[in-house]
Amino acid sequence: MIKNATIITVNSKNEVISDGGIIIEGNEIIDIGTMEQMKKYFTDEVVDAEGMVVMPGLINSHTHLAMTLFRGVADDVPGINWLPIIWSIEKNISADFCHVGSLLGCLEMIKTGTTCFADQYWHMEKTAEAVQESGMRANLSQGILELNDPNKGEKDLVESVTFAKKWNNSLDGRIVCKLGPHSIYTCSPTLLQNTREAADSINVGLHIHVAEAPNESKMAKKSHGGTSIDHLNSLGILKGDVLAAHCVFVNDRDREIMKRTNTSVAHCPSSMMKYGNEIAPIPELIDKNVVVGIGTDGCGSNNNLDMIEEMRTAAFLHKMNKKDATVLPAHQIIRMATILGAQGLGLEKSIGSLEIGKKADIIIINFKKPHLTPFHNCPSHIVYSAFGSDVDTVIIDGTLVMKNRQVLTLDEMKILETAQQAFEKLLEMGGYTSNSEKNPKPSFKTNLIVKSFQTYLKISQKLKGG
Ligand SMILES: [Zn+2]
Repeated sequence: MIKNATIITVNSKNEVISDGGIIIEGNEIIDIGTMEQMKKYFTDEVVDAEGMVVMPGLINSHTHLAMTLFRGVADDVPGINWLPIIWSIEKNISADFCHVGSLLGCLEMIKTGTTCFADQYWHMEKTAEAVQESGMRANLSQGILELNDPNKGEKDLVESVTFAKKWNNSLDGRIVCKLGPHSIYTCSPTLLQNTREAADSINVGLHIHVAEAPNESKMAKKSHGGTSIDHLNSLGILKGDVLAAHCVFVNDRDREIMKRTNTSVAHCPSSMMKYGNEIAPIPELIDKNVVVGIGTDGCGSNNNLDMIEEMRTAAFLHKMNKKDATVLPAHQIIRMATILGAQGLGLEKSIGSLEIGKKADIIIINFKKPHLTPFHNCPSHIVYSAFGSDVDTVIIDGTLVMKNRQVLTLDEMKILETAQQAFEKLLEMGGYTSNSEKNPKPSFKTNLIVKSFQTYLKISQKLKGG
């Protein structure tokens, strides 16, 4: 039982319950209401949420988890240079690196209130293992990247299908899968169609980058005579189970097609802002009733996985862009980071809101903080005032995975140390080549960083990881 809580339910009426309680049995919410209504229950485990706010776990709609190891390696470079830099390092990324990076990502997400995420990357098996170890929930897609090499594309497709067949609906449903064609500029029309066919045959959807960069739009126009959405639509790819990351360059007609085909969007404002990209027409997509969730993108381009920060960024970006404070109000942003995100992942029946019969994916945010006082208007405080580090307790699939900021499923200090070592090893392996004169090759002088990190670890251990 969670007792004495203020509960943001994110149900269809957006109800907020004061002095409320939630009863969890197994992995399910079996009752929710006022403390008066919960009086009839006698439970053996009680979480007292006095002065705290309880809400559905946040859903990160688009990330590349293992890229936590790339945090800070390709900053302040234009988007067009970013991919070659990342690919030059990525060629050294083995399964072991992906496991370390994924564990680091799970740790960061749990500590900032994310309970479920949609991932598209390589060595997805290792991300699945990290999900298993951490107790998180995820929609995982093994990436498919052709890059003018059809043999590679087909091989990636086979691996993506093999992964999905093995892991879809595994771990009591904590892992579901899609196939992960990277984008229209890295996958040929034939490969995209083959991927669609394969997805249909095993009954999973697709997770793909769409209309992300100006160059993609130019290429779509030149090679296929239309927009990215036109191209995908004409190939028969859009079938209601497609999670489309970014959708920056989508015109009014594209938005009509997206609505008609029930294509969902993962909006990642920070990564697009950091590239100096244009602004995705999110209010316009929402006006068309397109489902839009929020994602952080990978740490090579954000550079963190904090969904509370991402919610605020999304709200501020579109208010400023539209010069209208009423655009994307707090309650709507919270829906995007929970129930609408769940819809994009195909999980809205089981997660995304706190209601009887749903899975117990719940976060508890400590409001006994200066920046969250006075206590009132909780949805607004969460979007405009809170930090990821205010998340106190996390429950996923009915299991406590963090209590009073102590992660119970993972060894936090060990993961930080291993991730640092993996990063050092990646640097030794080299591979970095910058193709921009304005952004010369960084020196990677990390001795100072390593020393200060080791000091930080020692101090943290003394403080018992607080
Ligand atoms: Zn991405």
